[in-house]
Amino acid sequence: FSVDPAAHNPGRQFVAGKVPLGLKRKGLRVLVTGGAGFVGSHLVDRLVARGDSVIVVDNLFTGRKENVMHHFGNPNFEMIRHDVVEPILLEVDQIYHLACPASPVHYKYNPENKWHKTNVVGTLNMLGLAKRIGARFLLTSTSEVYGDPLQHPQVETYWGNVNPIGVRSCYDEGKRTAETLTMDYHRGANLEVRIARIFNTYGPRMCIDDGRVVSNFVAQALRKEPLTVYGDGKQTRSFQYVSDLVEGLMRLMEGDHIGPFNLGNPGEFTMLELAKVVQDTIDPNARIEFRENTQDDPHKRKPDITKAKEQLGWEPKIALRDGLPLMVTDFRKRIFGDQDNAAT
Ligand code: NAD
Ligand code: UDP
Ligand code: UDP
Repeated sequence: FSVDPAAHNPGRQFVAGKVPLGLKRKGLRVLVTGGAGFVGSHLVDRLVARGDSVIVVDNLFTGRKENVMHHFGNPNFEMIRHDVVEPILLEVDQIYHLACPASPVHYKYNPENKWHKTNVVGTLNMLGLAKRIGARFLLTSTSEVYGDPLQHPQVETYWGNVNPIGVRSCYDEGKRTAETLTMDYHRGANLEVRIARIFNTYGPRMCIDDGRVVSNFVAQALRKEPLTVYGDGKQTRSFQYVSDLVEGLMRLMEGDHIGPFNLGNPGEFTMLELAKVVQDTIDPNARIEFRENTQDDPHKRKPDITKAKEQLGWEPKIALRDGLPLMVTDFRKRIFGDQDNAAT
């Protein structure tokens, strides 16, 4: 006589992604914290499309109801306006934990409270929830954990170069703590966890005025304002289109490996090169204006994605010059409204 534990917890049997190919699986119950945000809402679209029951928990601090409104009325979709800093009781099979104020203009906004509470207390609560219900937990960490890296490109084994007392430490150190908590729950409570280190990502539904470089340049070029290049513009970043990231997150959740995994596009650009791509895409006459750079700005960043390629079978497919126009179409609509849609 043997008891199949899955029979007592329907849905769990599919969590490990071990459903034989060709067998139709029942949809999972998936929680996406921060699901009304930029990345989260694209992830929700994919999960709903594959037949999962999706619950979004979001306090709408930087997210927007409009990002997920198209799912309202779908019985497989639910949105709860809730701050993850407060405990919550739910029953799900998987938790994608994205909730976090993620943009630089918010660094200075109440860092001692919002940032730390969300990254530390919020992550702790979601780990406690995952532990109670036996759900698999995925943390969206960031390339910022590498700080101003002394190793290039960055490999997951690199421990980083982070200033613990600088203005952006609330983000870097907050995510580093979140990673630590995640691994402690894995080791201590035997929780199934996954960690993604996300590199700069862009695409439709990005917050328009959140101060990130791609959203700034695109909005500025569309509004006929100068593109604001900080510092000498020679610092580099690697820009990933959002659908590539979502594919990577889902493969990570469904796969057998904990990570951390770098999820990013290795195509590396200086900010001046990015400005040129934006000029070519939107307005060749867009002017460039130099501004003082922010404190502790990483000089370069580029993911080594060998591990994700080998263990997740994942690599990004969309180059910056192909992805940017898709974001521009969305920004044009949001900035100029329907009137302008006819022109796009
Ligand atoms: P976003 O700001 O669009 O989304 C974050 C969402 O979390 C928002 O909807 C916000 O309202 C919600 N949120 C914030 N604090 C919350 C709280 N206390 N309780 C409940 N909800 C809360 O940002 P994004 O770009 O979609 O980022 C998603 C995740 O990916 C974040 O964890 C971020 O750190 C990570 N990440 C993103 C990038 C990127 O380039 N976009 C890079 C690295 C890491
Ligand atoms: N928690 C939650 N939902 C749950 C279970 C736990 O929000 O379903 C929160 C709980 O409030 C606690 C945190 O998760 O603050 C950590 O829970 P855990 O059980 O790991 O630790 P403990 O409660 O023993 O400190
Ligand atoms: N940056 C810029 N102009 C802007 C906004 C940002 O030149 O209008 C620069 C910023 O100094 C940094 C890079 O672009 O070197 C990426 O900044 P972002 O805030 O988008 O991402 P992160 O620094 O978190 O990688």
